[in-house]
Amino acid sequence: MKVLRSKEYVVHLKEDLKARVLQLKQRGVYPNVVVLLVGEDAASKAYAKMKGKIADQLGISYQLEEMPANVTTEEMIAKIHALNADENVHGVMVEMPLPKSLNEEEIIQSLDPQKDMDGIHPMNMGYLLKGQGHILPNTPLAAMALLELGKVDLEGKIALVVGRSNIVGKPLAQLLLEKNATVMMCHSRTPHLEEWTRQADVLCVACGQSRLIKADMVKKGAVVIDIGTNYDDETGKLTGDVDFEKVAEKASLITPV
Ligand code: NAP
Repeated sequence: MKVLRSKEYVVHLKEDLKARVLQLKQRGVYPNVVVLLVGEDAASKAYAKMKGKIADQLGISYQLEEMPANVTTEEMIAKIHALNADENVHGVMVEMPLPKSLNEEEIIQSLDPQKDMDGIHPMNMGYLLKGQGHILPNTPLAAMALLELGKVDLEGKIALVVGRSNIVGKPLAQLLLEKNATVMMCHSRTPHLEEWTRQADVLCVACGQSRLIKADMVKKGAVVIDIGTNYDDETGKLTGDVDFEKVAEKASLITPV
């Protein structure tokens, strides 16, 4: 078994991005992105802070716009329209999940598809479905990068995605399909999950259920990509959707949480 670690890859990726940012600046374009953060969700705050740190490392200007939890859908849309119209803003991202009081779909649809950093606007999702995606959701893209890093040949392989969210599961299934994998999807209404997971050559899990995938649910020699990020109720420790220690003994390649 080999643990697939991304640290080295991320170093190269950052160098590449830094060079591309520099090229843009030499052409007079100063990349500038805005993240909208609503309310006090601790995980969202942490993600937004991390993005700011990385933007800084890459030489990208980053603005975090914090909005109170009682902001209205109309106020958010007005803010997004202003950012869409601002030619000095190149990317806009709304931290999810949004408070239940907001109409998430209307907010997503108000984004300029060209500035939709997370690739969640219906137009970008549509392009993805047609195999012509150019602004892609970040997490599925990261999962694909890991598979590439691990030199996993997907052609003809059975790839199973557990989880069907618009932001992770569905786009990931589409990206796997584009690489000629035979793709299956499971979700919370799938009975006997283990009967499906055991068939998978490549098992990608994004369901937000701590350690749901046990060793006896995994085919020997499978590649396992664990996208889940959960916090253990008892210890508060970060856990994946995969029971890493046991599954690692069976997998040929696996990602740590
Ligand atoms: P989500 O919107 O809550 O979707 C979860 C999906 O998992 C749903 O499709 C759900 O099925 C399915 N599911 C839930 N319980 C299941 C079960 N027992 N068996 C099979 N399927 C089950 O979550 P998400 O945004 O896609 O995120 C998924 C996980 O990835 C979370 O842990 C999240 O924190 C993590 N994540 C990580 C990153 C990263 O950068 N590493 C980024 C984004 C998300 P139904 O559709 O039937 O409800």
